[in-house]
Amino acid sequence: MYFKDLTPYKYRESEIEMKNVAWLEKGHSFIKGKVPGEFKDMLWKYMLYPVSVCRGFQKCPFCSLGENKIPMTTYNGQTRSVGYYELRVWGKGNTIYAVTSLIFHYMESHRYQPPKEFIEAVMNSDDPDNDEYYNKVLSLKQGHDFWLKTDRTLVDESEMDKKSTGSFPNTLNTSKVLFYTPKGNYGRVIYDDGTKERISYLAICKSDLNSGFYLYKCNKKYQIESEDLFNSIDECMKAKTVGGTDPEEIAWISKNDE
Ligand SMILES: [Zn+2]
Repeated sequence: MYFKDLTPYKYRESEIEMKNVAWLEKGHSFIKGKVPGEFKDMLWKYMLYPVSVCRGFQKCPFCSLGENKIPMTTYNGQTRSVGYYELRVWGKGNTIYAVTSLIFHYMESHRYQPPKEFIEAVMNSDDPDNDEYYNKVLSLKQGHDFWLKTDRTLVDESEMDKKSTGSFPNTLNTSKVLFYTPKGNYGRVIYDDGTKERISYLAICKSDLNSGFYLYKCNKKYQIESEDLFNSIDECMKAKTVGGTDPEEIAWISKNDE
């Protein structure tokens, strides 16, 4: 759902007036640019206080984040689940900003630049990890939530490591990695001289030379052993891989989900 930045908040019923921040949607342009690090450091602390928590979750309208599982955002080595709650920031003259929790992803992955007055409000605010802020949030109709005092959105990194390799390169052969697989057995590549190389990873990359997408087969050191060029990500995913792995059974991991 789209709400222009700083328009009155109407998404959910609210007894107080609030201003929208970061409710982006496809087809609506937004300002892109640099965002101060101090602002991000402070805003990240607000993620400790999810407000207006809902059961479903919002996906990113611009990429595959949140398509199949709860979206996650990593900042300064911490990972939080996002997309199913909002944030509240008090600014000058008791102005309250209603912010989607996808804001970090929008800034980090899509270069979203929040409005200046919101950036200033966050940078001038006290560290939200205190009783005064906590009580203010509790006083909101949507703010009274049983998990406010525990950090429920923080994702256990050790659990994350079990699910993915976590260290797949961001680029292969100067192409941007979009999707990769968990480490597995994806068959072998046999070279003309008879040498064989086992394929441990598959990766889909955006070509920087043309409009196509590469399906790379990589060894365990992430080195490319073979490449095929396709017109779309979908064609890469449906391509028959060596070793007869059923394309349907390949668990692609989006780089944006890391
Ligand atoms: Zn996205």
